[in-house]
Amino acid sequence: MSQVVASTSPPPKETQVQVQESWHAMTPEQAFETLELAKEVTDKGLSKAQVQQRLAQFGANELTTSEGKSPLMRFLDQFHNVLIYVLIGAGVMTAALQHWIDAGVIFAVVLVNAIIGFIQEGKAENALKAIRQMLSSNAIVLRDGKHLTIKAANLVPGDIVLLQSGDKVPADIRLFKVKGLQVQEAALTGESLAISKDTLAVNEQAVLGDRLSMAYSGTIITHGQGTGVVVATGMSTQIGHISALVANVDNVTTPLLKQMAQFGHWLTLGILVIAAINFVFGVLVHGYSMTDMFLASVSLAVAAIPEGLPAIMTITLAIGVQRMAKRNAIIRKLPAVETLGAVSVICSDKTGTLTRNEMTLSSIACYQQGFSLSGAGYDPHGDVFLENSTVPLQLEQYPVLQQALQAAVLCNDASLSQEDSQWCVSGDPMEGALLTAGMKSGLDLDFEAKAFPRTDFIPFESEHKFMASLHHSHHGQAFIYLKGAPEKVLEMCESQLSTTGESPVDKAYWLKQIEYLAQQGQRVLAIAVKQVEQEQRELDFEHVEQGMVMLALFGLIDPPREEAIAAVARCTKAGIQVKMITGDHGITALAIAKQLKLANSSQVLTGQELDTLDDESLAYQVLNIDVFARVTPEHKLRLVRLLQEQGLIVAMTGDGVNDAPALKRADVGTAMGQNGTEAAKEAAEMVLADDNFASISHAVEQGRTVYDNIKKAIIFILPTNGGEALIVLAAVLLGFTQLPMTPVQILWVNMITAVTLALSLAFEPSEKSVMQRPPRNAADPLLSGYLLWRIGFVSLILMLGTFGLFLWEQAQGHGINLARTVAVNTLVMFEIFYLFSARYISAPVLNWRGLTGNYYVLIAIAVLVVFQLLFTYSSPMQTLFGTTDISLAMWGRIILVSSSVLVLVELEKYLIRRFASHAWQKRHLS
Ligand code: ATP
Repeated sequence: MSQVVASTSPPPKETQVQVQESWHAMTPEQAFETLELAKEVTDKGLSKAQVQQRLAQFGANELTTSEGKSPLMRFLDQFHNVLIYVLIGAGVMTAALQHWIDAGVIFAVVLVNAIIGFIQEGKAENALKAIRQMLSSNAIVLRDGKHLTIKAANLVPGDIVLLQSGDKVPADIRLFKVKGLQVQEAALTGESLAISKDTLAVNEQAVLGDRLSMAYSGTIITHGQGTGVVVATGMSTQIGHISALVANVDNVTTPLLKQMAQFGHWLTLGILVIAAINFVFGVLVHGYSMTDMFLASVSLAVAAIPEGLPAIMTITLAIGVQRMAKRNAIIRKLPAVETLGAVSVICSDKTGTLTRNEMTLSSIACYQQGFSLSGAGYDPHGDVFLENSTVPLQLEQYPVLQQALQAAVLCNDASLSQEDSQWCVSGDPMEGALLTAGMKSGLDLDFEAKAFPRTDFIPFESEHKFMASLHHSHHGQAFIYLKGAPEKVLEMCESQLSTTGESPVDKAYWLKQIEYLAQQGQRVLAIAVKQVEQEQRELDFEHVEQGMVMLALFGLIDPPREEAIAAVARCTKAGIQVKMITGDHGITALAIAKQLKLANSSQVLTGQELDTLDDESLAYQVLNIDVFARVTPEHKLRLVRLLQEQGLIVAMTGDGVNDAPALKRADVGTAMGQNGTEAAKEAAEMVLADDNFASISHAVEQGRTVYDNIKKAIIFILPTNGGEALIVLAAVLLGFTQLPMTPVQILWVNMITAVTLALSLAFEPSEKSVMQRPPRNAADPLLSGYLLWRIGFVSLILMLGTFGLFLWEQAQGHGINLARTVAVNTLVMFEIFYLFSARYISAPVLNWRGLTGNYYVLIAIAVLVVFQLLFTYSSPMQTLFGTTDISLAMWGRIILVSSSVLVLVELEKYLIRRFASHAWQKRHLS
């Protein structure tokens, strides 16, 4: 498979780079040579022109996803349904009996059903694909000497890429610089343990998992950082060769749809049994001919089969997913749509999700000296003041403050830029705020970076909660700057720097200051320094664990999002607990919790305390406490587990690579789209495009709505089938020789009402009460006893009304065709009136909102009326369906009778609301 670098006859130029070279066995220099790159590329990256040329030569860095099934197969799949088998069987038998029109209509219905299913399913799949594309990943590259964040699809061979923990490797990369880099390569090798990477060339024969000098596309960085050069993109990558992994077009299905398919099987079986009994009964008891009884039984089967239901359910689900995407919640795994509706607790991060993540450094505490800063946002216009003074200070007069600010801007990976007069941060917003503060104080950021170049560093990880960097000045000094969570930094400090010089660290003083800043809801950061030997070129944990010198505490403001405050209130009303699970300080977290009005904002449990509690006592606490601070990703996992063990359905947010297990474990793992790592997104069911807590509550609302709408579609469609089946059964049992409706008429009603009326219910907006009721119990079946009653009740009304008018017309001396035309129109009009009632399961609809709230309903009715007029009066339809003209008086009677369903169902709803106990309503109506 591999090819030696210096082959005697080089491949043609176009393919020279993307052939499968043994990149892992080359030294970085050899790799550059093979890629036709000059050595300077490591410092500068490719130029714009080089990128253009390579993009044209190698194409985009994309995997061509196989389209899965062919359109023909997808179309044929539409017939693979037991309900349809029964219809086809009925059609064949009817044809055998030479009832050509009936057989033709049955086949036409089967075909129309398949075409509708095919189109709708295609639409739903395309919508989902489009939504998934919103999740395309990014890569950090070095181009023209600048670090840029670009779409991974725009990478070309030769690009220099920076990798950091949480990233998904965007292409096949030959590494030439690593710092504690570990990669989880399960996507390629199936091995879930992360592997430490290196830069040394490995044996050419090494298998994928042993090629330590490479980072392969699609694998996940779990730790550390690395830099490398792209050697293969798109389909030329290793993952591109594993085509099986690429063909991942999801099916549009969920547990609920599967459950319904199962229900469909049983229903079919039931229908067949009843049809058989009907047949035997008619032949033996009434002595009808076998042919007549066969046709009657076919009518019964056809009547009872809800052909349109599966398609309507899929569409409802797809509409829900689209609505969620519009409100910034992108569903990655379809079943989450259903689970969202049952969520009973949301565990959310604080920073950026509940708060704005627009940080401003507002106060600095040095030893015995306090400072404040003016200005807002990232705009560096503002000043630094000595506490209680209104005169901006001169930084040179406060050397400790100066050093603390210098540390804050140097031990920092963010950068500030001005776009359209707006100041923006790229990188961590908190670090951006530190840069702004440095500029306010008068520091020149470029000068500082050049005067004190960074030699090495320890990146921030939420496990150790600090970041450190090693710097060398041009005058031969070397020192470490460190910033991080204050308790953590204090542990590492032996002394402190103040105006009077260095003295042993006064822990009590600093702890008091931390508490003071945190009580105001400020995020507290400590800054420390340590002089080291000039020869030291590497930085490791052992170098910072002790002997640090405390410089200052920084207090940053990050106010809660207004929308989050409103969303918390909505969730509380909707019976959903909101818990804040943050890496921040407990007191800061409580102060923010108060502003957010969390149910319990007076108690906090810290990560340390969590460790001392056993599962039993924590299980009790976890229900009552809403604020968890200084937690690590492992704590998150434990909290999700304990909440789930108590029967709660948990949505959990996360952004870091280590959050992945908790996200996977949660019922609805939710990753941050903007500040989240690829690792978190991969593990999540849902991604928030705007990182905003309010989007979760909107998604829950939509989840509940989808579930409601599916229920509404069912309680709307099934009574049609129930009513029709009852009509046929009653006719046979009562000994009628001519049924009130022929099989083709029944099919007409089923088809035409499904594609108009039932479909409009899929677009039903959320009910007003949707976020005012408690979450549904996930274990409850879709169709409660109450809904079954409703289906039976309406079926009966439909049967009595339709049969009644059929008999009435016959009693007036009208022929069978007219009586049947009246019966069919009665049934359809019943459906129209019942559609209004079905819009709300228990709320009244006889009001303006109820009657006009969903304009799809009104359009569907208008379309249906036109179809019914054609069905009744146009001569081709009359020939096909055996219908005949009916008079205005007959329409009057039809409307009078059929409107009864609206009155009766609304009366039933009223009685339930009025007389059923609160507990009963809570159990059956939510
Ligand atoms: P949340 O989990 O709600 O998003 P968080 O962002 O505060 O909270 P972490 O990112 O784990 O959680 O941060 C924990 C603590 O680590 C912070 O309170 C801060 O003191 C410190 N910290 C955060 N980011 C940095 C950084 N870039 N450099 C140094 N220290 C940091």
